[in-house]
Amino acid sequence: MSTTQDCIFCKIVAGSIPAHRVGENEGALAFLDVHPLVDGHVLVVPKTHVGLVADLDDEAAAAVFHLARDVTRAQRAQLGAEAVTIGVNDGPAAGQVVPHVHVHLIPRHAADGGANVHAIVSTPATRSLDAVAALLRGAGDAGGSSGA
Ligand code: 5GP
Ligand code: ZN
Repeated sequence: MSTTQDCIFCKIVAGSIPAHRVGENEGALAFLDVHPLVDGHVLVVPKTHVGLVADLDDEAAAAVFHLARDVTRAQRAQLGAEAVTIGVNDGPAAGQVVPHVHVHLIPRHAADGGANVHAIVSTPATRSLDAVAALLRGAGDAGGSSGA
């Protein structure tokens, strides 16, 4: 397992610093965010050090999302979450502070006064959907070429 010596989340995975661990599978660990936005704010990380989602291998990507799914079930069942915001600050420009991939799982309630993902940027889109789709098309094993 690769780690970086100064990565706080690698240290949590290794158990060399404490965290409130709430779940794990072979490739991922879930623990409480030390500065929770709400009760039950959980982070899910790959057990191997990876900085960006783009650099996750298939196994780590699957492990992280499977564990995220399982944690949301517990947040709904045990904490009464009505919904969950699932988010990754994927790179410094997106607000990533800890350079080890982590999925925020934030329990939500209709009256919590929060916003949705549409609130995270304020500059408008400028290119046509056709132009952008042409640039991005091809992602995924199936090629992503069907549809409009
Ligand atoms: P980012 O902005 O990188 O997406 O968020 C990093 C998150 O990690 C923050 O919400 C922060 O509270 C959390 N965090 C930072 N250091 C620690 C730590 O040592 N332990 C835990 N449990 N969470 C941490
Ligand atoms: Zn790390």
